[in-house]
Amino acid sequence: MQIRLYNTMTRKIEDFKPITPNHVGFYSCGPTVYHYAHLGNLKTMVHNDILKRMFLANGFEVRHVMNITDVGHLTNEEDDSGEDKMEKGAARDNKSVWDIAQYYLDEFLRDMDALNNMRPTDMPRATDYINEQIELIQKLEKLGYTYEIPGDGIYYDTSKFADYGALTGGSLSGQRAGARVEYNTAKKNPTDFALWKYSPTDVKRQMEWDSPWGVGFPGWHTECCVMSMKLLGEHFDVHTGGEDLSRVHHTNEIAQSEPIVGKPWVHYWVHFGFLLDKSGEKMAKSKGEFLGMNALRERNIDPIIYRYWVLLGHFQSQMAFSFDALDAAANGYKNIVRKIADLMNDKSGNVDEDAYQKWHDKILAPVSDNLKTAESLVAVQDLLKDKTVNNATKLALFEFVDKLLGLQFMERATKLHELESVVAPVEIQQLAQQRLEAKKSRDFATADSLRNQIDASGWTVMDTPDGFKLVKKQ
Ligand code: AMP
Ligand code: ZN
Repeated sequence: MQIRLYNTMTRKIEDFKPITPNHVGFYSCGPTVYHYAHLGNLKTMVHNDILKRMFLANGFEVRHVMNITDVGHLTNEEDDSGEDKMEKGAARDNKSVWDIAQYYLDEFLRDMDALNNMRPTDMPRATDYINEQIELIQKLEKLGYTYEIPGDGIYYDTSKFADYGALTGGSLSGQRAGARVEYNTAKKNPTDFALWKYSPTDVKRQMEWDSPWGVGFPGWHTECCVMSMKLLGEHFDVHTGGEDLSRVHHTNEIAQSEPIVGKPWVHYWVHFGFLLDKSGEKMAKSKGEFLGMNALRERNIDPIIYRYWVLLGHFQSQMAFSFDALDAAANGYKNIVRKIADLMNDKSGNVDEDAYQKWHDKILAPVSDNLKTAESLVAVQDLLKDKTVNNATKLALFEFVDKLLGLQFMERATKLHELESVVAPVEIQQLAQQRLEAKKSRDFATADSLRNQIDASGWTVMDTPDGFKLVKKQ
């Protein structure tokens, strides 16, 4: 099936052509592990996962690399100034930077698993690639792209790179129009950025390394260049991240890589729309208060509902988070699970190969066409309604849907079906029978008290046209 993707670089939806046949090299900017991931970060992670699953469903072999940023880049990313995020997080938690990096990485992986995101093939850490980052800066230095700001660090001279800003269609001069902050006036151009920052002389940093230029730490943009090239080769297919990364981080990654490896370094740039908070602003860790997976856990919301809700939108669009929206998504999700569980009551018949292929393609086509997951979910609903397809075929198709969308429909439906298949003990059946009779004689007080008794014993009684049904509670 032809895959099409919106490429931020060309501002077009393009046919996907891999560099190596049947293989995709794919790099995602990963979390900065100084705090819990918020639901916005996790929205981005769900889109990454869908992109990967779409390639797999189309028969590609995928190498997915996601870095872990454990070197603290600075709170003012636009100007390489401000506090170091990792050191700030460590002070807040009263732990070492190394300890918080491990703690928040573990928490991030727990969130990834809860959302049923496949683990990336590789998850390199920035601190394990310091030498490679120094080598990259040395190469740029030899090519004449760098200069020193004494007492501050080594900077990249963006005026030397003719295509600077191409990713967002901007020119060098237009980049800082309307910039939110005063920039470091020692820089030759407002867009210049730090490749290596010197450690301050008055404070001892927990993370710092020797380098040909002096003790310090690398700028944020170097880590992704070296880790992606080391693990995926000098040129690779897809690079992803949230939409905030295109203007500065990815623009600077390109400026560092293309002088060394030639153009284009990356073939497809894919950016995901923000999750907005209730005031309509980008959800951000730096705001102090943000919603993470714990906010869902506290409210007993199944994380897979969040995944389902994200897939009801499109990756290029922003989505405004609310618990009401999640509630509505939960109803939709449970409805599908309910119907699949019903299919399990009669699995007789063989899988109809023609019907399977037809629906397989109907479900996969929208996802292959620029990741239109919501359209794929409409096809899923249509499949459930199609009376010409037998249950065995539908169930086989749901195995495929789960591989593609990772929504664990079959797992939840199997659980529901099993719970419904458990026969209630005789005494519970007797209570339900008595309740039915009380209802018939309009003695609702007795009927209610019997329902409470049944409830307290771990069963739910439901009315059906021919009497009642008892379902064991989860
Ligand atoms: P960070 O941990 O802040 O370095 O971000 C990890 C990933 O989440 C990056 O790809 C960011 O672009 C992305 N991201 C950050 N904030 C949001 C948001 N509000 N909505 C969607 N993605 C986001
Ligand atoms: Zn990156």
